[in-house]
Amino acid sequence: MFCFQCQEAANNRGCTIKGVCGKSEELCKEMDLLKHHLKQLAVLNNDEIALFVTNSLFKLITNANFNLDDLKNTNEEALNIAKKYNLQLDNNIIINDNLTIKGLKEMIMTGLMGMAAYHYHAIQLNYQDSDIHEFMLHVLSKLDTINDIDKLLKIIDVVGEYGFKVMALLDEANTSTYGNPEISEVNIGVSNRPGILVSGHDLHDLKLLLEQSKDSGIDIYTHCEMLPAHYYPELKKYPHLRGNYGNAWYAQTKEFESFNGPILFTTNCIVPPLANANYKDHLFSTGNANATGFTYIPEINKQKDFSQIIELAKTCLPPKPLEEGKIIGGFAHHQVLALAEKIIENIKNGSIKKFVVMAGCDGRQANREYYTDFASKLANDTIILTAGCAKYRYNKLNLGSINGIPRVLDAGQCNDSYSLVKIALALKDAFELDDVNDLPIAYNIAWYEQKAVIVLLTLLHLGIKNIKLGPTLPAFCDENIVKVLQDKYQITTINKVNEDLEILG
Ligand code: SF4
Ligand code: SF4
Repeated sequence: MFCFQCQEAANNRGCTIKGVCGKSEELCKEMDLLKHHLKQLAVLNNDEIALFVTNSLFKLITNANFNLDDLKNTNEEALNIAKKYNLQLDNNIIINDNLTIKGLKEMIMTGLMGMAAYHYHAIQLNYQDSDIHEFMLHVLSKLDTINDIDKLLKIIDVVGEYGFKVMALLDEANTSTYGNPEISEVNIGVSNRPGILVSGHDLHDLKLLLEQSKDSGIDIYTHCEMLPAHYYPELKKYPHLRGNYGNAWYAQTKEFESFNGPILFTTNCIVPPLANANYKDHLFSTGNANATGFTYIPEINKQKDFSQIIELAKTCLPPKPLEEGKIIGGFAHHQVLALAEKIIENIKNGSIKKFVVMAGCDGRQANREYYTDFASKLANDTIILTAGCAKYRYNKLNLGSINGIPRVLDAGQCNDSYSLVKIALALKDAFELDDVNDLPIAYNIAWYEQKAVIVLLTLLHLGIKNIKLGPTLPAFCDENIVKVLQDKYQITTINKVNEDLEILG
């Protein structure tokens, strides 16, 4: 096997025996075949193909789907769809030996996977953009035939342009359906009732579960990236949406042990449980998330029946507390722009000197301690703007506030980086600047997987320079790609905290 699509790629080169994520060689090969099939199917360019490709790309995201049978069935489905259109799919995967070309193509594929995941969430809420579909299919269908570095770089820029479109679409879908996120305190303790823990990013699944469980005598908790659900009026109105349990995705093997109740994965990021995990019989998944041993909840006629999870929860003990207290969030663009006058006044009077965007992903590697250290050492007149699970590295540090404005402003999930861009653009207008890079905003982005890549490509497309990307640059960037990233966008990777504070703080 060979896979280098995420930040955990072994030795920052690639996984060759087994994925650090837990992906087996067989699963990796089935996924590679699916990618190859999708590229061939993409020439058909119609609605049925676009939806199939969007779902399938989501399944290929790191930590989303560990079910070999599901992947085999998806490949079978690809062959059947092709047959319907008299298209013959081959299995001859094309591998380019030129590391720069190979890396640029991987960057495009990872961006498309992130884009597909965000589009999938919007489609669940009946927001669909045929331009995004068309672009995705067009790029996929041509990718194997383009071997020109400049052309590939141009495509990467346009992927970033579509990244902005898809994040804007998902923002519209979420805010029109659930209301604008508002400042909210989220309980991180537990109640004395049994609970269901919901992970992943799919607010639509959470809403269905909240509705179906509202009079069941159980509570619903969020894990990792589902935390921002508590910021939306249409979700927080359910009193049994009790709180957030635990931290970022990689902590699940420890934290799920004490939850006691069933756990539902709606998307990535899954860590396959160990054979002796006490929660392994309590695992459910839905949508594109799946793993061997999990009970899968299908969608039938646009409905999902979560009754077996709810019934199981009723027989379980309440969760054991991991911590107590509250955290605050809900600083998406609408809420922050409502506070714009106060923020601008604090910038003008010198109380706020700088913003640091610390969005993106968390991960299990020890060197990610850097982000906790960096956040805690930032000057007291600096505000952290965050989105994605990267926040768990510093959202419980009690960094205080500046004249009532918390020093960590959490906009939401990784796709809510869109909010951070909107806030930056609004500040640029308020200060009548020509260039967003003239604002006192620094970018220290942590990445792990493909959604973070589409966010990064979006920022690059918008002309944002001097981003620090860590904890490592992607394994698919060879020295030529790194040089382009440095020359064109001034991207660097993280260094020692004190050195980076000198530059960004
Ligand atoms: S997704 Fe990441 S960890 Fe998993 S096999 Fe690929 S590079 Fe390795
Ligand atoms: S921000 Fe990235 S790493 Fe974190 S849960 Fe979301 S997809 Fe996974």
